[in-house]
Amino acid sequence: MAKAWYLTSRPTGLPTAANFALREQPDAPLEPDQLRVRNLWLSVDPYMRGRMNGTKSYATGFQIDQPMTGGAIGEVIESRLDGFAPGDQVLHMGGWRDGGVIGLDMMPNKLPAAALAAGMTPQTFLHNMGLTGGTAWIGLLRVAAAKPGDVVFVSAAAGAVGSAVVQIAKAREMIVIGSAGGAEKCAWVKDLGADAVIDYKAVPILPALARALENLGKAGIDVYFDNVGGEHLDAAFAVANDFARFAICGMIDVYNDGKAQEMKYLIRTIPARIRMEGFIYTDQFIDCMEEFYADMGGLIASGAVTIRETVHNGLDATPKAFLGLFSGENIGKMLVKL
Ligand code: NDP
Repeated sequence: MAKAWYLTSRPTGLPTAANFALREQPDAPLEPDQLRVRNLWLSVDPYMRGRMNGTKSYATGFQIDQPMTGGAIGEVIESRLDGFAPGDQVLHMGGWRDGGVIGLDMMPNKLPAAALAAGMTPQTFLHNMGLTGGTAWIGLLRVAAAKPGDVVFVSAAAGAVGSAVVQIAKAREMIVIGSAGGAEKCAWVKDLGADAVIDYKAVPILPALARALENLGKAGIDVYFDNVGGEHLDAAFAVANDFARFAICGMIDVYNDGKAQEMKYLIRTIPARIRMEGFIYTDQFIDCMEEFYADMGGLIASGAVTIRETVHNGLDATPKAFLGLFSGENIGKMLVKL
């Protein structure tokens, strides 16, 4: 019998194990347009924290005493959906569980056979060829309209989105400053090609950013790719060049406590004519899907874009993997392997 993680209460602050319960899923016969899958990989992502609140947001909230959902890769074991057959590998939204019935509401998509035959791993569609790589690509190239020669500052640069931003920007001949927590992460971001890296847990971010710019002989940043909010965002305001573009992707610094964010340098948006735009991956993905797959597929094939995976094993580990995102336990993409 399949099992799924349920949200049993709404977290206050950082969630704890007490907010989740693993429960058996009753077996049900397939209805038309449904698949039965055995999940192979589950994605845990920071945006899921927002779905645990009872408040209105862009992603449907998790309901109390209902199974949670999220990106997953599964293998079809039974199909009543045209075009899908046992053995197919599918990307779908029925995560936080080891398998079960997947309907059209879970948006099943067959993984492209050509990509798999060329050696791409299935879980790549949960990161660089999926949500996190797509977010990096859309945010950097479309929202911020970053171009060769731009100075790009990216926070959470050793995470899934951030590491893709670093590499796409370097492949496009931009100058990249990344920030990440800890020496091991910073060393990896440098290996990915960043021109400067700041360990924000070791030094205050604004003076370090100013120093990095000075060492690079640059007056300021043209693009800020924000994954964090708070002091990082304020530091970016402080050093923005005229007509800088800020792609506001995430603010993980406040996902759990919703604390006020002091912005001493927000006023610079006016004299520097900063354009700041929040964006959601799903709003733009369909429009640019073909271009994204072609471009990102090429960057991955050439080795210009790589990923590290931090993998937890087994369905039981899913909440732990999710919580690890907030303590920075992951380097690259956090995944659960079943
Ligand atoms: P990551 O792989 O980057 O994991 C989260 C990382 O955030 C941690 O490893 C940690 O790295 C860092 N972090 C955690 N808490 C803090 C903090 N208080 N201050 C600074 N850094 C912190 O996750 P993703 O790549 O999946 O997501 C990155 C961001 O992108 C998130 O904000 C997410 O919500 C957002 N996002 C937005 C999307 C959109 O459509 N707008 C789509 C997908 C993601 P470290 O050790 O360096 O602190």
